[in-house]
Amino acid sequence: MNASVFEPLRALFGDRLLTGDADLSEFGRDAISEEGYNGTPDAVVFPESTDEVVGLVGFARERGIPLVPRGGGSGLSGGAVPVEGGIVVAMERMNRVVEIDTANLVAVLEPGVVTKELDRMLEPHGLFFAGYPMSEEICQIGGNVAENAGGGRAVKYGVTGDYVIGIEVVTAAGEVLRLGGRRVKDVTGYDLIGLFVGSEGTLGIITQVTLRLLPRPAARAVALGFLADESRLAELTPALLGLPARPSAVEVADASCMRLLSSLSARWRWIPSGAAMLLVELDGPDADRVASERDEAAALMESLGVTEISRSKTDEEYAKLWLLRKQVPWALMKKSPHQTMEDITVPVAGTWPLIAGTREVSRRCEVEIANFGHLGDGNIHVTPLKPDGLDVGQWHETLPDLQTELYRLAASLGGTISGEHGIGHKRRAFLPLVLGEAELRTMRAVKRALDPLGIMNPGKAV
Ligand SMILES: Cc1cc2nc3c(=O)[nH]c(=O)nc-3n(C[C@H](O)[C@H](O)[C@H](O)COP(=O)(O)OP(=O)(O)OC[C@H]3O[C@@H](n4cnc5c(N)ncnc54)[C@H](O)[C@@H]3O)c2cc1C
Repeated sequence: MNASVFEPLRALFGDRLLTGDADLSEFGRDAISEEGYNGTPDAVVFPESTDEVVGLVGFARERGIPLVPRGGGSGLSGGAVPVEGGIVVAMERMNRVVEIDTANLVAVLEPGVVTKELDRMLEPHGLFFAGYPMSEEICQIGGNVAENAGGGRAVKYGVTGDYVIGIEVVTAAGEVLRLGGRRVKDVTGYDLIGLFVGSEGTLGIITQVTLRLLPRPAARAVALGFLADESRLAELTPALLGLPARPSAVEVADASCMRLLSSLSARWRWIPSGAAMLLVELDGPDADRVASERDEAAALMESLGVTEISRSKTDEEYAKLWLLRKQVPWALMKKSPHQTMEDITVPVAGTWPLIAGTREVSRRCEVEIANFGHLGDGNIHVTPLKPDGLDVGQWHETLPDLQTELYRLAASLGGTISGEHGIGHKRRAFLPLVLGEAELRTMRAVKRALDPLGIMNPGKAV
C-alpha cells in the first residue's frame, strides 16, 4: 500500500503514525522464533485514547484496510502479526491505570498496561491479579484479555477471563461497547464480555478492562524434584491435585528439556540426567502453614518416586527454583529457533498419555520432541525441534504433518490444540481437526455479524 494512503491519519496521530520500512519491521512478528509466521504492516499507529481508536476504525472501514491490534508482541500464535498487511494498532501508549478501587477490589486499566507493572502497583495494596501469564514482564493486559491468557498459577486461580468483569471495546462498526462494570455478578443478557475475551483481536479493539482482584498471598513456597520414571506422572498428577491444600502451580519439564538445559550452561550441570523435573508451589496468608503444606507435597512426591527434592525456605531460594522451570523455553530456543512450541491441552488425567504419545510421534517422525508446561492444567508445551539432518526448507515442509499428528493425538485424549497461546494464524488451518462444522459455522457467523467487512485482524482464529 502506498504510504500516501495513510496521510489523512497524520492529523489524528502526528508522529505516532509510522510508515517507514525500518520502523515497520519490528511490528511484523510476535514471539514465535520460526520464520514463516511474520508479515509486514503498511503502517503502525499508537493511539492514546478511545476516541482516537474510533477515528482510526472509521478511516480503516472507509478504505477496507485491515487493523491488527498489538499488545506486548509476546504472543506465540502469530496473533499480532499483520499477515494481510494493513495498520498495526500498537496499544502501548494507552497504558494508564485508571483506578485501583480497593473498596470493590477491582482495577480499571487501559489495555497497554504491562502485566508486571500492574502487579508492582497492586503489591502495596496487598492485592493481585491472579490470571496473569508467565510472560508478565513483556505482555500487556489487553493482550492477556484478547488471548484469555492463563499462567503457571491457573491450577488454583484460573485464567484471565475469570477476572474480567468489565470491558470497553471499539467494534469494527466504530461503536464503543461498554460491557459489565465493577459488579461481581451480572446475568443481564448474553455474556458479551466472554465473547471478547479470547477473541484475539478479531472482533474489536479493547480500550479498557476492569479486573477483579484477590488478596495477595503473603507466603509462597516451592518443592522441586526429579523423576527418573516419567510414567509415574500418571499417579503424581491426580495425587498432587488432591492434596488438601490446592497447589498454586504444578509444573513439569521432561528429561529432554533437562538434558538440553544442563548441556547449555555450566550453571545447570548439576541437573540429574534422564529425569523429568517436577515443581509444586503452595501459597497462602500464613508462612508456617504454607511451609507445612509444601512439606506435605514434598512427602507425597517422594512416596511416588520423585528424588533430590529441594524446598524453598527464602524468597531467594523460591526464585532460584522457579528459574529452572522458567529457563526451559529459552534453552529450547537456544538449541534451535527452528521449532514449533505447541500448546496442547488435555484433561489432567491425560497428561502422561499425551507425553507418552509424543514419544511415539518422535520415534516415527525422527524428530526430537521436548515437553514442558502446566502439568496441573493438562496444558503441555509439546515442542518438536528441527533435526540437524534437515535444512530449514525441509523442516517447514515436515511441520504441517507433524502438527497434524500431534493435534490428532490431543483430540484422541479429549484434548485440543491450544490451552493458552491461542489460534492466531499459526493454528488456524488446523481448527477442523478439533472443531465440528457446526461450531466453525457459528464462530464465522459471530465474526461476520461483528465485522462484516473483515477488517479486524484478518487471517486469524476463525
Ligand atoms: C516466554 C513466554 C512465556 C509465556 N507464558 C505464557 C503463559 O504462561 N500463559 C499464557 O497464556 N501465555 C503465555 N505466553 C504467550 C503470551 O505472552 C500471552 O498470550 C500474552 O497474553 C500476550 O500478550 P501481549 O500483550 O504480548 O499480546 P500480543 O502478542 O501483542 O497479541 C496477542 C493477541 O492479542 C490481540 N490484542 C492485543 N492487544 C489487544 C487489544 N487491546 N484489543 C484487542 N486485541 C488485542 C492481538 O491482536 C493478538 O491477536 C508466553 C509467551 C512467552 C514469550
